[in-house]
Order: sequence, then C-alpha cells, then structure tokens
Amino acid sequence: MSFTLHGIAVTSGIAIGYAHLISHTSLEVAHYVLPKKFIGEEVARFDAALLATRNEFAGLRSNRPTHAAAEFDAFLELHQMILDDPQLSVAPRDMIASEYCNAEWALKVHTDALVAQFNQFEDAYLKERQLDVKQVAERLLKRLTGQPGHQPPPARHDVETILVAHDLSPADLIQFKPQQYAAFITDLGGATSHTAIVARGLNTPCVMGLHHARELIREDDLLILDGEQGVLIVNPDKPILAEYKLRQSEWELERKKLKRLRTARANTLDGSFIELHANIEKPEDIAEVKENGATGIGLFRSEFLFLNRDDLPGEEEQFEAYRAVAEGMEGQPVTIRTFDLGADKQIKGAARVANNPALGLRAIRLCLAEPQLFRTQLRALLRATHYGNVQILVPMLSGASEINQTLQFIAAARRSLDDEGISYDHEVKIGGMIEIPAAALALNVFAKKLDFLSIGTNDLIQYTLAIDRTDEEVAHLYDPLHPAVLHLLAHVIGASNRSGVPVSVCGEMAGETAYTRLLLGIGLRRFSMYPAQVPIIKQRVLTTSLPEIAGLTQRILRADDPMKIRELLDKLNS
Ligand code: PEP
Ligand code: MG
Repeated sequence: MSFTLHGIAVTSGIAIGYAHLISHTSLEVAHYVLPKKFIGEEVARFDAALLATRNEFAGLRSNRPTHAAAEFDAFLELHQMILDDPQLSVAPRDMIASEYCNAEWALKVHTDALVAQFNQFEDAYLKERQLDVKQVAERLLKRLTGQPGHQPPPARHDVETILVAHDLSPADLIQFKPQQYAAFITDLGGATSHTAIVARGLNTPCVMGLHHARELIREDDLLILDGEQGVLIVNPDKPILAEYKLRQSEWELERKKLKRLRTARANTLDGSFIELHANIEKPEDIAEVKENGATGIGLFRSEFLFLNRDDLPGEEEQFEAYRAVAEGMEGQPVTIRTFDLGADKQIKGAARVANNPALGLRAIRLCLAEPQLFRTQLRALLRATHYGNVQILVPMLSGASEINQTLQFIAAARRSLDDEGISYDHEVKIGGMIEIPAAALALNVFAKKLDFLSIGTNDLIQYTLAIDRTDEEVAHLYDPLHPAVLHLLAHVIGASNRSGVPVSVCGEMAGETAYTRLLLGIGLRRFSMYPAQVPIIKQRVLTTSLPEIAGLTQRILRADDPMKIRELLDKLNS
C-alpha cells in the first residue's frame, strides 16, 4: 500500500531506495532453540557478556567526569545494581539451561518481566526506572551481539538503502560516514539538531520528525524521500516513481552545474567580496570543503573527536587532528571551536547527568568545570597554530566572567608551552560564539575582549524563542525570521562592523539560500556552512547587488508582522 508522510526537511535532494530499519531499542531479538550440546557454550556466552558489561561499568567509573561525580556515581551505581539483579544476571542463565533458548531471547524475556514490575509502581520515580532497566539490558545485549557501540548496520551496495530509525544521536550518525546510504529518516529530531547538522555534512538527503515512520515502514519497502519538501512516499505507484526519478536526475544535474562555481570569486554584483567558509566535524571533511570551493573552515566542531569512544582523546591525538586540518587548508583560515560537549553531544557515560542539558553544563561551562580536559585541548590547539592559519573559537559564552576565565586558561596554556619551548602562533586570534541572547545584548564586552565573533544562529534561535532545537514537537515554532531574532542579528552584525571586529554566522541560517540576501543586507560578509552548500550560496552572492537590497532589508527589520516579513523576504529573493 502506498502512503505519504510529512516531516521536517533537513537536507535537500531526492533519494529513492529500499528501507533498512534500525532498531531503536535493540531488544527486538530473535528466538531460537539450540541443540542440547551447545547449551554450555550459550551459558558461557551469556556469562562473558555479563562480565564485559560489568567491566564496562568499572571503566566508566574510573573515567567519570569529575564535574558531576555525585550524579554520575549514583547513576552508575543504579545501573550496576540493575545489572546484578538476579532477574537479569541469573534468571536468563537458568532459562537458557532449562529451555535451550538463545541468550538474547532469555535476556529479553526477563527484561520484559522486570520492566513490567517497575511499571506497576505507583511512585513516579520508581516507575521511570524501567528506562534504566531497558538501558542496562540494551548494554548487555550489545555485548552479547558483539556490538558494544550503536553500530551502523551494513549498507547493502547492490541497492540504494534508506536508513529508517526512531531516533539517531549525532554520535550514531557520524559513524555512518564512511558508508553510503542514500538517505536517512527519523521519527524524532529538529532541523537544527546536531543529528541534522551531521546529516547535512554527509550531504545525504534527510527528513526528520516523521513521528511514526519507524512503525509504519517495513524492511525493504520502496521509499522516495524529498529532502527539500520533507516528504516521504512509501511504496509509490509507478507514475510517481517515474516522476521522482526525473526530478532526481534534474536535481543532480543542477548540483553538478553549481560545482563549476568552485573557483569563482564570491563577489556581489557591485564587487564586494564575501567569505564563504565551511563547517566540519572531522579532519576527513576537508576533501569536501575543497571540492566545493570554500575558502576556509569557519567552524570545526572539535567535540566530534570525543564521541563514540570509551576514552577521551589526549593532547597528542587532538594535536594531530588539528594539525591535519591546519596543514590541509594550506594557509586558508581555520577556525577550531573548543569542545561543545553536553546537550545532544554527550561523551559516553555522561548521558544522564543533567535534567535539562541544553541549559546545563554544556560547551564553555563544561570546559571551565573540567580544567584538565580544557587545558589538554588548549595546548593541542595552540600547538596546531604553528602549522597553518588557525584561530580558536569558544562556544556558548554568556558574559565577561566566562570570557575572562577562558582567556586566563589560554594564557596559562601558552605559558606552559613557552616553558617547554614549544612553538605556536603568538598572534593567535581568540573568538567567541554569540549564541545566547545575553551575549548578543551585552556585545560590547565581547567586542572589547575578543578578536572575532561568530554567531551560532542554531542556539541563538533556540535560546531566544525557548524552543528545544532537537524536539520535533516544537519545531514549527523555531523561526529564524522572528523579529526578536532578526533584531539580535542586526544588532550583533551592526555593532561588530562598527567596532571593526570580524563577525560571521556559522549556524544553519548561513547555509540557507532563503536568508543569504537578508544577511548580506544586514551587513554580514562572512558565512560558514556545511560544505555542499557553498556553491549554491555562492550563486546567490553572485546575483546580489548590495545597494539594491538595502531598502528592502530595512523594511524587513522594521516589520513586526510575520506575514509581512515573509512577503518582503520573498520580494528580496525574487
Ligand atoms: C550554532 O549554535 O548555531 C552553532 C553553529 O553551533 P552548534 O550548532 O554546534 O551548536
Ligand atoms: Mg551552538
């Protein structure tokens, strides 16, 4: 049966392929009966997985982040207790031995029973602990299946595969990078969530916020995904399929043509040069940056080096990664952001520390709370400045006190390198991200103390409008054109330009053609976006005359009616 679902458009492009479902909770397992002679082995397999999971907890305990020792320890203790509960550690063993079933099945049956017990509690806190039971069982199950992380399923190369998931974290998605999927779809997530950002970096069509897609779609269903419109067609009729095949080849042709702009200088019609930089997550992304003709890296989200691993990257490993980017860009500017961990990018074991992670210990707050981690990164970053044109960007600063503390950390890292006679660029520029409304409103102190600014519109919009950027339920309220957002942008860009402090936008707004002219009109001259978007934004720049858009931009900034703003924007873009 053919049906259509509507979600949130994340990455444009059309994909046609067969559904490959990945399990959100891996507790969907097969049941099979084993010959008696293998039962001993099966019990041993269960015991080994149990031991490995216990060791995993022990490892997490010894590597726990110092900032939240109490909560983290309590969380680990609870999970260890659940793991040691006879219902999970003993009963499955007995069931394997008595019923000759596979270990996964025995674990699933007893997990379900334990979850059901927790579900009967009237106390809300106890009731909620069923989630912990599921998480512990999932960890144990992954050990059993030999997949300690959230491993990507193998892509099938004979047909185009579209990955269908209930939810994917940015850490999950980044693991899919080397694999070629035609597209991704998820039930949850918003357009500026970090999962969406990684999907764009993969340059793969993606629709999120589809609510029940994971339940409604069956393995190997034929899917058409229109990333531009956020539409998914399941088991399309022949004429629809033919129409989308045509649209797909037209779209690909258009993209190819745009790539011819790779070496063109991004000048407006009246001759102003606009810097078009790229955002990356890993050193390997440089190839795409160059292929698309970006003239620098405007945002290297260094925190991705910290994800999907049980340990943390040390100074040498980080230094090598930053140096690779610095050298790879051959003298073009490279802006590396200090790690923005927390919220939807958690290192292993820290995932449940905060109740409201977007407002919690995230980005610079976490850096300042974890001095050792921060020092290590700063030394690695400073060392890399010797190998290229590197500048350091600090996320989520809210005001003078955090700026001062950050600068003190940087000064101390410089002193330690001086003491050891290690080279670095003594003129290295330090910048701050403007992504909290308080920072935008108290801009003076940022302009005075920092060398450059970069506006993170994804967070600036999230925090201005109080919209969780990862929550599809409120995604319709996430509005870059809200007058409050536009006023903050105009204020930050205007004030920075007046005081001669370089300012860029590195949030997703910078990569959306709908906003290019508006941002140019407001005075922005530096954009940073996911690499594949550079050519189309360049095309926009090449067809824009700054004097011609000035009047309409001012009218948009003065308007307060959303309909009127959209109407004027359409005029600006026509
Ligand atoms: C932003 O907030 O706009 C930004 C660029 O940072 P991130 O998306 O990584 O939070
Ligand atoms: Mg941000």
